[in-house]
This record gives sequence, C-alpha cells and structure tokens, in this order.
Amino acid sequence: MSGLAASIAAAKAAAARQLSIALLESDSNLGGRVRSDHTADGYTLDRGFAVFIQEYPSSQQLIDYDSLRLSQFSPGARVKLAGREELARVVDPLRGALQDWWLALSSPVGTWRDKLRLLPLIYTVLTKSIQDLFYMEEMDTLTCLKKKYHFSDEFVSSFLAPFLEGIYLTDLERQSSRMFHFVFKMFTVGSAALPAGGMQAVADQLGDKAAGLGVHIHCGKSAYSIQQKKQDGTFIVDVKCEEGISKYHAKSIVIATTQQVATELLSNNILSQSLKKPISPLSQRTVACLYYALPSPAPLMEPILILNGEGAQYRNNKPYPINNICFPSVVQKTYAPQGYELCSVSILEKAMHDYDGDYAALDRDVRRQLAVWFPDCAADVMDESVWVQKGLYVIPYAQPSHFKEEGCANVHGGRDCNMFCGISLPEGMFVCGDYVATSTLNGALESGVNAGIAAATYLTHI
Ligand SMILES: Cc1cc2nc3c(=O)[nH]c(=O)nc-3n(C[C@H](O)[C@H](O)[C@H](O)COP(=O)(O)OP(=O)(O)OC[C@H]3O[C@@H](n4cnc5c(N)ncnc54)[C@H](O)[C@@H]3O)c2cc1C
Repeated sequence: MSGLAASIAAAKAAAARQLSIALLESDSNLGGRVRSDHTADGYTLDRGFAVFIQEYPSSQQLIDYDSLRLSQFSPGARVKLAGREELARVVDPLRGALQDWWLALSSPVGTWRDKLRLLPLIYTVLTKSIQDLFYMEEMDTLTCLKKKYHFSDEFVSSFLAPFLEGIYLTDLERQSSRMFHFVFKMFTVGSAALPAGGMQAVADQLGDKAAGLGVHIHCGKSAYSIQQKKQDGTFIVDVKCEEGISKYHAKSIVIATTQQVATELLSNNILSQSLKKPISPLSQRTVACLYYALPSPAPLMEPILILNGEGAQYRNNKPYPINNICFPSVVQKTYAPQGYELCSVSILEKAMHDYDGDYAALDRDVRRQLAVWFPDCAADVMDESVWVQKGLYVIPYAQPSHFKEEGCANVHGGRDCNMFCGISLPEGMFVCGDYVATSTLNGALESGVNAGIAAATYLTHI
C-alpha cells in the first residue's frame, strides 16, 4: 500500500514532467498485507482479519470510498464474558439513539465507574488533533489504562485488552499509549467497514489509479540487489522473475517494503560503507485467522466485532486460542454466497506459539470454544461438514513493533524518507512503509505519499 501511494503521489506531483514510473511487486498481485482470496464457491477471505477504518486521514485523501461499496460494522462490540451465556454488549452511546445511553450504562462489561471514566478518555480523543495525541506523554497502554484513566482490571481484561490486542496484535504492555489514543479516536469519530470486494479492493483501486496516472505496474518481479553508478548516480535494480533476471535503471528509487526486506536490499551495496553495525530488525507481530463457512443464519446476525472477554486465563493460549471473532458476511453480504455465512476467528501470536504448528488441535479447540459461546449451534460448530473450515492464514510479518524499540512504528506523519534506520540514504533514494510511520494502513499510505513527493521533487530539480 505504501508503494502504491508513493507511485500515485510521484505521478501526480510530477504530472507536467511525465516521469516514467515503474512499480515492481514480487508477488503475483498488488496489496502486500492487504490481500483477499475469492474462493470458487463464492467466499471472500481476507488474508487475515482486517477492517477498513474510514477515519484515517491518508485513506480519505487517496481512496474513493463510494466505489468500495463499504458496509459498516456497528459501533461497540459484543463480549463473551466468563460465566454468562448471553454475549454482553458494549455500546458507543455517542453514536446511537438515546436509549443506547441506558444500554451503555447497564452493560455488564465494566462497572459504573469504568463507564464514567470513559468520559475523560472520550473528551481527550475528541478535543485533541491526531498530532496532539502523538505529543502526549508516552507509556505502555496497560499503565495508561490503569494509572491515567483508572479503569478496573475487570474492564481491561474483558473488553480493552481483547479489543486493543486484536488491533495491535500484542500485549497491552508492548503497545504505546499514543497508538492507543490514535486508534481510539479513529473508532470514536469514524466507522470500521468492509469493502464489497474484500480488503483487496482497496489495493486494486489504488493499482487502477496508479495505472491511470501512467505508472507501469509489474507484478511477479522481485528486486534482489540495488547498486548505484558512481558516474551519474543512476540506480540499477536487479530483478528476478519467472522469465529470468532483468535490470531496471532509475534516477530515483523508493523502497516500499517491510524493514527486513529493505535491510536486505540496502545492506550489501548502498549502505555497506555507512553501516558501523548490522541494522537491528524491528520485532514483528504474527497473527493467524481461521475461516469457517456455515449455513445461514449465523449465530449472531449483527454486524459487530465479538471479543473474548473471558479473562486472560481463557484467551490467547492453549486450549483457549480465540482473541476475537466476527461474521464478515453479516457485515458485508458479498463475503459469502447466498444462504451461507462466513466466520473469521483471529488468533494472536501467543496462542500460535502454544500450538506450534498443530493446526488440527487449533481447529478443534477453536470449535470447542465457539460451541460454548454459541450453545444453540454447538452441534453444528463441532460438525466439520456443517461449519466447514475454509482457510487458515498465518501471517508472520503482520505489523512492526510500535513501542520501546529503536526506530519503532509510532511516528504520525512519518519519519524522514531519505533516512533508513537513522542512516542517510544516497540522494534520490527514499524509503516508505508502515515501519517508517505508524503500524497501520494510515502509516503505510502517509509514508508512501511522503516518499513519492520527495522522489518527484528530487527528479524535478536534477
Ligand atoms: C492480518 C492483518 C490485518 C491488519 N489489519 C489492519 C487494520 O485493520 N487496520 C490497519 O490500519 N492496519 C491493519 N494491518 C496493517 C496494514 O495492513 C499494514 O500496516 C500495511 O498494509 C503495510 O503496508 P506496507 O506498504 O508498509 O507494507 P507491505 O504490505 O508489506 O508491502 C510491501 C510490499 O513489498 C513487496 N515486496 C517485498 N519484497 C520485495 C522485493 N524484493 N521486490 C519487490 N517487491 C517486494 C511485498 O510483496 C509487498 O507487496 C493489518 C495487517 C495484517 C497483516
């Protein structure tokens, strides 16, 4: 997504100069971490559960929402609490009817005090700009929730932990309070949605936009080495593809990959002189997603996120792997064929570690857990011919760390795009990607725009 944003921004910024821009993608299709598979029998499986957050400033700037045909999640969440059969409701009273205030206050998730303590948090995110939220004192999110906002342990473990860990894919102790305020603002002000064509539609739209601006898109081309000619500063990119090996020559280059791939591409030649020690890799979060197809109706026909609020003992470990689930087809009908629904189950790193590749055991334990959550459908959930497993995605480089690591991804607006991990890049070379800004789609897009404009500006002045 950062590479697409960069190529669009460069093509627009240098429209009068008619630059020749090539976008090289190693995969067979565009999108990187924003990909979807469309099965022959009519299901859309995003490669990992993801939502389109409409409030992101960079998305608003670059993406045509109407043509995505978005369907929104209901605000709030449903929560499976320990010892309660019915899923409890967390309501966002700011965006519902008057009666939602009563639902919010009477919800068994959190105490009355927790609900009152939400007010200063909501006030903060509503009155501060995103930039101001990133200027606030930084601490880990658990400390922030407990010491700054004084939420009870029970409210944190039943709602805030599964919600935020489902977004940033790691413990609250390893999340930044700035990123917490940012995402809380995005969800408080705007909506989460799914596009009719799956998350891939967002990438496809940007791909079409780039192609329309004259960008030459080459999928299946993997850059494996970059050098710079001493004489005139031209970059030479060696590329592998099915047909063999080829070379691209460019006056300017933007590397729009993960930090790991950028390190590989830069360490051998470009930065070999300036590297005093090896670049330390930023930790990456892993996430997995299990999909089940089931006959309609889904056990919950409400377009809402369902969180595991049973407590730390019964979440993100073996034999209780689930962090959160959702029925994407209830949010966006196109995700399943008529008469069927799709269930998406998110499993975080800790649980995946416990299962250590034993996916049969994972599937069995997910079914057992879901059968308890939905007792009326327990037999169907356990029956592999009724709830049919449609796919399992394990994504090892899902998100870069955004807290307490050198160069971590929580810089709103992005870092300098002509520096890589604190080292200056040669003139005309730029980097982008979520690790350069924030570990979000917004971060990827904004860093891409920065790099694209910088490349176009550079080319206009040489
Ligand atoms: C399961 C999942 C759910 C997520 N959910 C959300 C969400 O709900 N909201 C949110 O804001 N963010 C979410 N994210 C994070 C968001 O998707 C990413 O931050 C963003 O897409 C990263 O984009 P990027 O361009 O920085 O990197 P990438 O998407 O990693 O793009 C890098 C590209 O470079 C290509 N590439 C790699 N090596 C080479 C090479 N040698 N030559 C050529 N090309 C190469 C890759 O194939 C890839 O296409 C989620 C991520 C995952 C994995």
